[in-house]
Amino acid sequence: MRDIISIHKTGFRLLKMIHSVDSIIIPLHLLELCMSLVQVYGGLFLTAALIDALLLGSFEQAAGLALGLLGMTLVLGLCSGLARRRFQGLRTKIWLLFYVWLRRKSFSLDYETMEKPEVSEKIIFSERTSDMYGGLGVLLYHYCDMIRSVLSILLSVSLVIYLCLARPESPEGLLGRLAGPVPPALLFVGVLAGMGWSSWKVFKKYAVKQQEIFQSHTGVENKLSYLMNQVLANVKVGKIVRLYGMQDMLLHNTKEEMEKSHSYFERMCLVGRQESSANRAVSSIFTIVSYLLVAMKAVTGAVTIGAFTQYAGALNQFGTSVSSLIGDHGGMRKICTYMQEFLAFLDMETLHEKGSIPVEKRNDGEYELAFENVSFRYPGSREMVLKSVNCRIRVKGKMAVVGKNGAGKTTFIKLLCRLYEPTEGRITLNGIDIRKYDEEEYRSLFGVVFQDFKLFAFPVWENITAGYERQEDRIWEALRQADAEEMVKKMPEQLDTWLYKNMKNGVDISGGEAQKLALARALYKDAPVVILDEPTAALDPKAEAQIYARFNRMVEGRTSIFISHRMSSCRFCDDIIVFDQGEIVERGSHEELLAARGNYAEMWNAQAKYYESQESLREINNNQNKSTEK
Ligand code: ADP
Repeated sequence: MRDIISIHKTGFRLLKMIHSVDSIIIPLHLLELCMSLVQVYGGLFLTAALIDALLLGSFEQAAGLALGLLGMTLVLGLCSGLARRRFQGLRTKIWLLFYVWLRRKSFSLDYETMEKPEVSEKIIFSERTSDMYGGLGVLLYHYCDMIRSVLSILLSVSLVIYLCLARPESPEGLLGRLAGPVPPALLFVGVLAGMGWSSWKVFKKYAVKQQEIFQSHTGVENKLSYLMNQVLANVKVGKIVRLYGMQDMLLHNTKEEMEKSHSYFERMCLVGRQESSANRAVSSIFTIVSYLLVAMKAVTGAVTIGAFTQYAGALNQFGTSVSSLIGDHGGMRKICTYMQEFLAFLDMETLHEKGSIPVEKRNDGEYELAFENVSFRYPGSREMVLKSVNCRIRVKGKMAVVGKNGAGKTTFIKLLCRLYEPTEGRITLNGIDIRKYDEEEYRSLFGVVFQDFKLFAFPVWENITAGYERQEDRIWEALRQADAEEMVKKMPEQLDTWLYKNMKNGVDISGGEAQKLALARALYKDAPVVILDEPTAALDPKAEAQIYARFNRMVEGRTSIFISHRMSSCRFCDDIIVFDQGEIVERGSHEELLAARGNYAEMWNAQAKYYESQESLREINNNQNKSTEK
């Protein structure tokens, strides 16, 4: 019972969501179902009356009834047709909105929650199963058909009760006595009770089976979805697949998972079919008993020949309605079971508060950020990645964060941008814990280029403005500063050129060019704090030198934080902090740190040797080239 209540709770919640998309659609469906019931049962009554009138020879009355029947069929048919026209397209509309609901929710969750594997599994599963058994768009049809079937069953049962009470013309003899009101009424109540009990048993048996199949199904769908969406449909994967000859392995794995998924659906459908057959068997007992009753009443003269056709029609409706009720309930149950995952995702709470204090708008850019005893461990891991970090970031200063790979530099930035919250300690902006500020306003303070920056298959301008207003001169200025102006000018439609070939004949760009555009995007945001995480990693030495030459102008009047493990690229920063195993181990200017002969000096010397050897290699090459030219 609890299972049914929970399924219907889900169903009603989903109906509410449909109602929020189109408020007229549910009332219209209800109106349409009422019209169809009137058409069926009104038709049965009028036909019965028409037959009786014909048998009695009242042709005038028969003509009136025939006209009424025709008129009713025409008017109700037309109105139902008009209502159904309004339903067209609803399914697609709801399906599209489903994706919007899903994505809106995922953007509203904090980054930390979104990184949890179980959250992405929920999203993948919801997406993959959204259209199963017709999905959300079909749910309303199931509910309306269920209401239609219930009303139809009630109407046919009332007719049979009415039939039970009809008295035979002569109550003598065995048949006459059996056809009297009491025996049929007792028989009818017994059959109905037996039917209700059997249906409940059937329902319980198959509900358990379906739940078992559903639970074992989830893992397969997640694997399949990963293979199809993130591996097979990923253009970048194509390179590795070809080079390592992974085609057969991947297709084999996908086929295997698909077969498993298919077998789950087959089992689900088989259980559905078995359930309907069992229910049909139960309802047919009612139909047989009721037909016997009608025949007995007709033979003993308790009902007319016309009424006989009416009762026979009603009983036929009863059988159809019972099967349809069971079918629709099963369909609704399957959709709701899958949709429960989607609703559970919508109900997920964010881990962290969004904050409410507005961030003070300051033209002087005096935003002072500080880490106070900050330690941090990633969710699900035991080790602290940052350990008691204390650091005041100088307003409008040029700060470099250096350290070996894995030292915690990027994590430090992620915490600063509030993608994660400190496990211990706090980060402050102008003395106030950053958690208290409105999250969106706080983030607007940062223009960031992460190592794994992402550009989109959109026009260049949209990649640069990233949702902010398009201002042509500012876009070109940002491109100029990021050394990308010439590159964009050479593109076929300049700012309106689409990136990447998978869209509108777009252009493909190299990793270095993409990095320059990502840099331009960060500069266009015109944020008071600019953070560049290895911003020149994909650039050639010449382009890198050009960016550095412009760097001072780029970050003028802003606080800038520059992360790199290339020491040479940090020299122009006036404040360098050195991370080692999650701790700040040194801080100072380039000269001070060299003089201190600590970690920084060690890394600098190690890299200087490399640069020297590169330099000498370049010299050898140049000399060789010159001699061959001669
Ligand atoms: P850096 O930027 O200095 O190379 P990171 O800050 O990226 O270093 O990483 C510091 C440590 O945190 C590394 O040991 C890394 O494996 C770990 N780490 C980074 N991201 C995650 C994550 N999402 N979940 C768990 N551990 C992570």
